[in-house]
Amino acid sequence: MIPLHSEPVPSAADAVIVGAGINGLATAYELARQGLKNIVVLEKNYLGSGSTGRCGGGIRQQWTTEENIQLAAESVAIYERMSAELGYQVFFRQGGYLMITEQEEDLPALRAAVDLQRRCGVPTDFLTPRECLDIVPGLDVGDLKGATFCPKDGTAYPFAVVWGYARACHRLGVKIFIKTTLTGIEAAAGRIQAVDTDRGRISTPVLVNCAGPWARSLAAKVGVELPNRQERHEIMVSEPLKPFLDPMVISITNGIYFSQSMRGEIVGGIGDPAEPRWEDPEDFATHSGLRFAVRFARELTRLYPRTRSVRMMRQWAGMYDVTPDHRPILGGVPEVGGYYHICGFSGHGFMLGPMVARRMAGFITTGREDPIITSLSLARFAGGDLQADAFVVG
Ligand SMILES: Cc1cc2nc3c(=O)[nH]c(=O)nc-3n(C[C@H](O)[C@H](O)[C@H](O)COP(=O)(O)OP(=O)(O)OC[C@H]3O[C@@H](n4cnc5c(N)ncnc54)[C@H](O)[C@@H]3O)c2cc1C
Repeated sequence: MIPLHSEPVPSAADAVIVGAGINGLATAYELARQGLKNIVVLEKNYLGSGSTGRCGGGIRQQWTTEENIQLAAESVAIYERMSAELGYQVFFRQGGYLMITEQEEDLPALRAAVDLQRRCGVPTDFLTPRECLDIVPGLDVGDLKGATFCPKDGTAYPFAVVWGYARACHRLGVKIFIKTTLTGIEAAAGRIQAVDTDRGRISTPVLVNCAGPWARSLAAKVGVELPNRQERHEIMVSEPLKPFLDPMVISITNGIYFSQSMRGEIVGGIGDPAEPRWEDPEDFATHSGLRFAVRFARELTRLYPRTRSVRMMRQWAGMYDVTPDHRPILGGVPEVGGYYHICGFSGHGFMLGPMVARRMAGFITTGREDPIITSLSLARFAGGDLQADAFVVG
């Protein structure tokens, strides 16, 4: 059992973290590990109820920007030890990621990405369509032009990761309040002073915004304008089947991704360019649609015909929190001391979260500059010279 608090919140804390998804809980855990006391996590719903509990659990190091590769590689190192470190089985499995393309013009980018990833210490290889069959027998490689494969990529079970971090937080004295909403933020003299919640006021010098798709509206409460927008993404799970698919397969041509969980289910999704943009968090629509089911099933069975008789069990939707360059926003702002944000992860916050949390905790507790946090700060959008990652898929 994870002790969750339902009593009134304490009147004071050394740090308040908003959001009990992977980023909020991992940050609370890392702050506590790095010596900060009296940490409170506020979650308006239940643990993992935001994007984290709705995600595909994919963890890959195959990116085209050095920051993403480095954060992902460092996070993989954490995932490799996570079950032991947290004392909780998180079902991390390194079946690899096979990134495929059906477009000749993608090949130079794939080859360049392999070079960069290898320079960063990630063991990715370029594969011909025929070589893909060694990794995924039965894949229809007729239209494939090439692929990349990293055997150290993998998947973990999102709820187990959240529960593992929550238990470890509890052991370190962090108090997690579920069904508790942050309703206001008090800042004065250029610093965070307190937060208001629907269970009472907490005075605090530190506020960490890990509110996922709600991060933009939360930041606005303290006058910080984030450029994030929110996108709805659907995903589905099949009936459980005997294990037959090792890696996550992901197409940079049309955004389909699919893997097999340790329970045998096929889990996958596909991005939809026709999805409307969502502006108002009160409006987030996480309903499921027939359009997704048809598009996903068509594409899955075309690429991987042996899934033709597989039955879909359930589908759901969640929100991506997307920035103009599809890279996260980390750090604080000079105008409001003690305020920090960890948000804007698009479809890759689950894989980057563990290391982002560790680095952000170091930054918050010591104030020491971290080059990755600096390069991913909100200030980068003022310059206009954005370096987007080319392998944003989903
Ligand atoms: C369909 C789908 C598939 C995905 N697949 C992958 C994948 O395979 N790999 C990957 O790395 N990423 C994936 N992602 C992205 C990933 O889920 C997110 O980037 C990540 O979970 C973000 O975690 P978070 O902790 O920052 O935010 P969240 O998990 O969204 O947590 C934010 C929390 O803040 C709470 N909150 C908000 N406002 C308040 C408030 N005012 N008071 C109190 N609490 C509040 C919310 O209730 C929520 O629980 C996917 C996302 C979706 C939707």
